[in-house]
Amino acid sequence: MPSVDALLRRPALRDAIARHGHALVVETARAELDRARRATLAGTAPPPRATLEAEIEQRTLDALAALAELPLRPVFNLTGTVLHTNLGRAVLPREAIEAISRVAAQPSNLEFDLARGERGERDDHVTDWLIRLTGAEAALAVNNNAAAVLLTLNALAERREVLVSRGELIEIGGAFRMPDIMARAGCKLREVGTTNRTHLRDYADAIGPRTALIMKVHTSNYAIEGFTAAVPEAELATLAHARGLKLVTDLGSGMLVDLKRYGLPPEPTPREMLEAGADLVTFSGDKLLGGPQAGLIVGRAELIAKLKRNPLKRALRCDKLTLAALAAVLRLYADPDRLVERLPGLRQMCRTAADIRAQAARLQPVLAARLDGTATVAVVDCASQIGSGSLPVDRLPSTAVALKPARSRGAGKALGALAAAFRALPIPVIGRLHDGALLFDLRCLEDEVGFVEQLAKLAADP
Ligand SMILES: *Cc1c(COP(=O)(O)O)cnc(C)c1O
Repeated sequence: MPSVDALLRRPALRDAIARHGHALVVETARAELDRARRATLAGTAPPPRATLEAEIEQRTLDALAALAELPLRPVFNLTGTVLHTNLGRAVLPREAIEAISRVAAQPSNLEFDLARGERGERDDHVTDWLIRLTGAEAALAVNNNAAAVLLTLNALAERREVLVSRGELIEIGGAFRMPDIMARAGCKLREVGTTNRTHLRDYADAIGPRTALIMKVHTSNYAIEGFTAAVPEAELATLAHARGLKLVTDLGSGMLVDLKRYGLPPEPTPREMLEAGADLVTFSGDKLLGGPQAGLIVGRAELIAKLKRNPLKRALRCDKLTLAALAAVLRLYADPDRLVERLPGLRQMCRTAADIRAQAARLQPVLAARLDGTATVAVVDCASQIGSGSLPVDRLPSTAVALKPARSRGAGKALGALAAAFRALPIPVIGRLHDGALLFDLRCLEDEVGFVEQLAKLAADP
């Protein structure tokens, strides 16, 4: 076995030390030496000394390259789900990215009131705009919407009862289950009605001395259809207030403008919920709103003040990068006419079927040439979804390129290999497997040039 010192004298590893630092290179070279030693002990005859040294050197360099790569990377989201939770949900507009880098590089007035020269409130950077855009008396921001619900329930209903319709006891991917959040918030869940039908009298009958609030959950990631009944916000608000209770609405997605103006299916807004009488409304920052991960709470001033005093608020607060991005995104809503061009998610949702189809027609021959007979490439109709629980049943007509392995024997394995080859590209391409094909829904493909350029790096026969 060569010694570590001998390895480190080789020019390539000396260069590596300059790039990665002495400690990491030594540690990595040692690990590769050990591996080679173990292989020899296990009976594999080692190659001649010079070859062995070169081999260990190469493995050390490969391992260092892998260590230097940042684990969180951009990908092409061609799954057909615009707001894909596993792929980072909303893509931020340029304005938000600039706002993040400005406050990231320097100290900021995060909790400092510049006018008065005193300690300030971090939420103040977003509350004015939240109030303006929702008509609320007050607002606050926390780390995500699950946190918003947790804080709201704990602050307003700890050790008391919360009424929720059985049709709204939802689970949202990633272990957000309303009953579990309630338990952690220290509230007692009181289910009312049935899965498909809940009436006002069900709520009225369930109110007791320990009831603190009525919770309405926007069933954002599924729809109950057929013989159904749910009680509208306004009626629930009247009942709650007549009995001295609060009404809280968990809206989930929370778009701030009426989506109908963009030709998209309507989605209730926080403003509508407040106008209907909800005392507080919670919603996500990174779903339809198109901002950073955050949970926003808007509504009555005295309740928001109570939430601010709760110790959980400190544990759930947003960081400065989030607040910078959120403030920048909220400002864009001042001009709804330009929102489609500025907010990437909304822009992608608004792309016309014809536009996407034209892109598919351009890419089909490019992909076919690159795959060179190993797979067929067809242009097919498909339906995108908005995702992240927004508009659960509505689909947006779209077009995909469908890649199918040419050989029918072992097609399943070949399809898996094809998908893996696209995931192995410098900017991994994530599609969707459907009916024996790898579908790339092109709705969210904005950087077409970048997509095509890296195809040269696709493994030869995936
Ligand atoms: C998405 C969603 C949540 C959770 O929001 P996060 O921002 O993911 O924490 C809670 N309630 C509803 C109704 C939702 O749609």
